[in-house]
Amino acid sequence: MRKRVLILLGPPGAGKGTVGNSLSKQWGIPIISSGDILREHLKANTDIGNIAKKYVESGELVPDDVVEGMIADELKKTIYANGFIIDGFPRTVNQAKMLDKIIENTNTKVLYLKADDDFLVNRLSKRRVCEGCGKTYHLINISPQKEGICDICGGKLIQRADDREDVVRRRLAAYKELTTPLIEYYDRKKILFSVNGNGELIDTLTEIKKTFEW
Ligand code: ADP
Ligand code: ZN
Repeated sequence: MRKRVLILLGPPGAGKGTVGNSLSKQWGIPIISSGDILREHLKANTDIGNIAKKYVESGELVPDDVVEGMIADELKKTIYANGFIIDGFPRTVNQAKMLDKIIENTNTKVLYLKADDDFLVNRLSKRRVCEGCGKTYHLINISPQKEGICDICGGKLIQRADDREDVVRRRLAAYKELTTPLIEYYDRKKILFSVNGNGELIDTLTEIKKTFEW
């Protein structure tokens, strides 16, 4: 069997992280998230972190060469040798071309989570994340039992700097301009698979379970 690679595509807030983590557990395939790796670099003040900071915080895309090098290095790790799910990369046609070389001869599918702007702005600007364990909440739909405190670990719930509404709008604009061309790019290769991301994540997961095939 050829190794499986699943690329998650879709606007910020469509649920790529949640869906990806769930599929990763279900299928026993590791997930790699460019946003998570970048946030680790920012926290640790690495060279990559120092370059990326102003872009991430303002909602713009980090330059291709920086992200491409980072992802190429990460994918050299042996844990990805038998396949992987990738979230947040590629985000430009350039990045997609770079990934094409790495995934040659694999069984690659692209899962595209569709969602509308208003839905996304609402979901992201009301999202809170646990400082301790990373669990995400939503002020209205998935509120914690005690305000501002994580149900699981008791950690403090904070808002990601780039989840502020003005920054969310900029992330959506970057997505539209630079990332939406990838929908056609992968559709032409006949590996694009679309699902509805405009609702409860549990429904999106059910739809994937029912309809997605390798
Ligand atoms: P979301 O998909 O919810 O916008 P991510 O966690 O994937 O959030 O990304 C957060 C930020 O990290 C992006 O707004 C961007 O600045 C940067 N980033 C992540 N992945 C990439 C990428 N592939 N290319 C350029 N910038 C990226
Ligand atoms: Zn927690």
